[in-house]
Amino acid sequence: MGKVRAKKHLGQHFLNDLNVAQKIADSLHHQAYKQVLEIGPGMGVLTQFLLQKDSEVFVIEIDKESVVYLKTHFPLLNNHIIEGDFLKLPLNEIFKEPFALIGNFPYNISSQILFKALEHKEIIPEIAGMFQKEVAERIASQPGNKNYGIISVLLQAYYNIEYLFTVNEDVFIPPPKVKSGVIRLIRKENQTLDCDEKLFKRVVKTAFNQRRKTLRNALKSITLVDEKKAEPYLSLRAEQLSVDDFIQLTQSFEV
Ligand code: SAH
Repeated sequence: MGKVRAKKHLGQHFLNDLNVAQKIADSLHHQAYKQVLEIGPGMGVLTQFLLQKDSEVFVIEIDKESVVYLKTHFPLLNNHIIEGDFLKLPLNEIFKEPFALIGNFPYNISSQILFKALEHKEIIPEIAGMFQKEVAERIASQPGNKNYGIISVLLQAYYNIEYLFTVNEDVFIPPPKVKSGVIRLIRKENQTLDCDEKLFKRVVKTAFNQRRKTLRNALKSITLVDEKKAEPYLSLRAEQLSVDDFIQLTQSFEV
């Protein structure tokens, strides 16, 4: 059986370097869980290394042609291949125990994948994989950086994030237009924030939506109830605040 023809609309860029594939598979710790879900396995370049580990491997792939390829080449996966869209997958029904997410992710939906993971953080202790380099950097970015934003703060509130390594365009078929970056997210021990978590999300989003304004102006639409507590932050801009600063600031608004 021939190789899968790369389809642009599915963000298909097949990794063609076994060392890189092995390194991505190895970036998972395989500690607090027994199951792993790989998003977008394609022809299984990463899957083959995941299968050598102790965890039970599930894959979800939207592309029919790739699914046929996987069924033919990976009998070990047998009934662990889910055909469909990860964004529509009912994770709570399929996974009753904690699992890790991994992938050379489809770059066109990377933020959506991460926001969905965040919604299910109680059962996802770890995430590792490859993103467009700029996205990987933004997720791992620290306060004061130009690319520090909503997704950095919301993910870093619950996960410790490491940027692991950069991957060049030329190891993919077809090569993407941008470099890629591999990151690892390990959930923090404390899974709850010391403030109202819905309000935290609203404060972070509202603050960054007008990121050039001071927080006093950017957050006008939310009712301030503790001016004194908020005072140290109000003359700053969103990108200057750490996760802990945002938690403190959230405590000064009305829930
Ligand atoms: N892991 C493979 C393929 C990476 S390309 C490799 O490294 O070679 C991204 C893969 O994600 C493609 O196989 C594509 O079909 C798949 N994909 C794209 N959108 C998806 C979605 N919404 N749900 C599941 N898989 C998806």
